[in-house]
Amino acid sequence: MLVVMKADATEADVARVCDWIREKGYTPQPMPGAQRTAVGLVGNDGRVDGSTLEDLPGVAEVIHVSNPYKQVSREWRPENTLVTIAPGVVFGGNDVPIIAGPCSVESEAQILASARAVKAAGAVALRGGAYKPRSSPYSFQGLGKKGLELLALAKRETGLAIVTEAMDDEGAHLVAEYADCLQIGARNMQNYSLLKTAGKIGKPVLLKRGMAATIQDLLLSAEYLLAEGNTQVILCERGLRSFDTTSRNLFDLTAIPVVQSLSHLPIVADPSHGTGRRDKVLPMARAAVAAGADGILIEVHPQPEKAMSDGAQSQTPDQFTETVQQLRRVAQAIGRRITGPL
Ligand code: PEP
Ligand code: MN
Repeated sequence: MLVVMKADATEADVARVCDWIREKGYTPQPMPGAQRTAVGLVGNDGRVDGSTLEDLPGVAEVIHVSNPYKQVSREWRPENTLVTIAPGVVFGGNDVPIIAGPCSVESEAQILASARAVKAAGAVALRGGAYKPRSSPYSFQGLGKKGLELLALAKRETGLAIVTEAMDDEGAHLVAEYADCLQIGARNMQNYSLLKTAGKIGKPVLLKRGMAATIQDLLLSAEYLLAEGNTQVILCERGLRSFDTTSRNLFDLTAIPVVQSLSHLPIVADPSHGTGRRDKVLPMARAAVAAGADGILIEVHPQPEKAMSDGAQSQTPDQFTETVQQLRRVAQAIGRRITGPL
């Protein structure tokens, strides 16, 4: 339930509403906004009759959020949430940041070459997994802490923000020491314990849609983060498992405008995992920017044929350079801009 205050409501009016909610045994959540203050009440199990609140001074209206997800919904917060992962790297505004880098951190030479290449091409954040969720236990599992240290080195050298995956509760605290934004991967989208931990840590989170998750599932997972007090959440469409084997996943472009109408959180597109094929990344990245994505995530490897994971979908530095140039033109055509100096 959301209590929307009138534009001229006083602090005392807001405090009275908060007291009323506390008396009923709930925790009020005042949210000052650009136009008006709203006070949230989460977890109303039917015991609270909102209509009596409407009579309190300064109250404009009481909205019953009908969706099962509350705090992530547009009803809860009409304005876009801006998620800032590093100075100048903001998701949810008019600018569209690009996150790029290899699937996995493999070595110092590999991550530094990747970081330099993606920065030169126009990316503002470096991605790369130090902890990898692999389908097979015999596949490369990532360099672990050493990988995080190499990401820190790449950040020192290039100034790029770091986005990297946390796979479990314990690891999340360590990853948070190095990352500007914690990635929670598709396989962990419904790891509720990890979501609660990441919510408590409070660093920005990139939450990827599970490969068989509905948009409602995705938004409910994001709700776990907001319920712990972390509003710095970026959602990510990365393709769904389908019956068709011509691409690795079925990239759900529609998810972009759908999420934007249901939620105030930014949504980023990942055409690399979305297609699984490097030659399909450019057209789908263009389509994602045209569809209104709030950011783009692309896997880039200095030598994709030697990559220890996801080589088939990783662009070469030259392909990525061309991609960013084309994305700049698409963004401009819809009145947006790819984040960066140019
Ligand atoms: C990744 O970003 O490399 C990754 C493992 O992604 P996903 O969780 O979407 O499969
Ligand atoms: Mn990958």
